[in-house]
Amino acid sequence: MLVMMKAHATAEEIQGVCRKIEELGYRAHPIPGSMRTAIGITGNRGPVEASSLESLPGVAECVPVSKPYKLVSRELREDATVVDLGDGVVVGGRELAVIAGPCAVESREQAFAIAGAVRAAGAKLFRGGAFKPRTSPYSFQGLGEEGLRILAEVRDEFGLKIVTEAVDGESLELVERYADVIQIGARNMQNFSLLKLAGRSARPVLLKRGIAATLDEFLMAAEYILAEGNYRVILCERGVRTFADHTRNTLDLSVIPAVQSLSHLPILVDPSHGTGRREKVVPLSRAAVAVGADGLIVEVHHRPDEALSDGSQSILPDQLDRLMAEIRQIAALLGREVPGGGPRPDHS
Ligand code: PEP
Ligand code: MN
Repeated sequence: MLVMMKAHATAEEIQGVCRKIEELGYRAHPIPGSMRTAIGITGNRGPVEASSLESLPGVAECVPVSKPYKLVSRELREDATVVDLGDGVVVGGRELAVIAGPCAVESREQAFAIAGAVRAAGAKLFRGGAFKPRTSPYSFQGLGEEGLRILAEVRDEFGLKIVTEAVDGESLELVERYADVIQIGARNMQNFSLLKLAGRSARPVLLKRGIAATLDEFLMAAEYILAEGNYRVILCERGVRTFADHTRNTLDLSVIPAVQSLSHLPILVDPSHGTGRREKVVPLSRAAVAVGADGLIVEVHHRPDEALSDGSQSILPDQLDRLMAEIRQIAALLGREVPGGGPRPDHS
């Protein structure tokens, strides 16, 4: 059930309702909106008795939630959530978020070379795995904490926000310490203990859709994170497994408007894992922006033939420049902006 507060409810009234919910043995999640605050209730096994809350000061109405998820739902929050990463970097706002960088951090030199290109292209967020979930145990598994140290240097040197994956509780603690956004990968979308840990983190979370996850399963995975009190969740469509064999995965762009009608959370698209082929990344990026995604996460490598992972789907720095220029034109049609529209910085 949701408790909808009146538009002019005071902070004390909101606190009073939260206190009552906690007294009943549940957890209260006050979510401010532009018009009014809604309070989500979790921890109840059956329906919550509305009469004990409806009469409290400041309460407009109590409404049952029709979906299995509550906190991620548009029913709780009509406005789109904007995840603020600080320093003017937001995900879900008018400006599209572009996260770019290598699949994996391979060395300081590699990360710095790519970060220079990412910044020059105008993107504000840098990606790069230090802990890699690989299909084969014999493939490169990432540099671990050393990779995180390199990412922290990238942030200091280039002013880019860092997005990197945690694969278990141990790596999550480290990622929290070094990065700005914790990525939870497709393979871990239903790792419920990891989701709960991420839900207790102070860092925002980028949650990727599982390779065979339905929309409900995807939103329920996000719900695990919000239920623990972390409301800064960014969703990401990265392709699902189908019979198609012309791409690595089938990028399900139709999920973007579907998510947006059901949830207030921002959603990005990963055209790199979504196609697995370099030449398809720019076209699918254009499509993702056209369909209304809040941004992109793209793999970039300055020497993709030598990449230790996912070289064949990594675009070159000049392709990233082209991608930014092309999505800028599409974004403008939709009243959105792409960062880095000014004159190109000189990195020669
Ligand atoms: C990644 O972004 O590097 C990655 C492993 O993605 P996914 O979890 O979507 O496969
Ligand atoms: Mn990858």
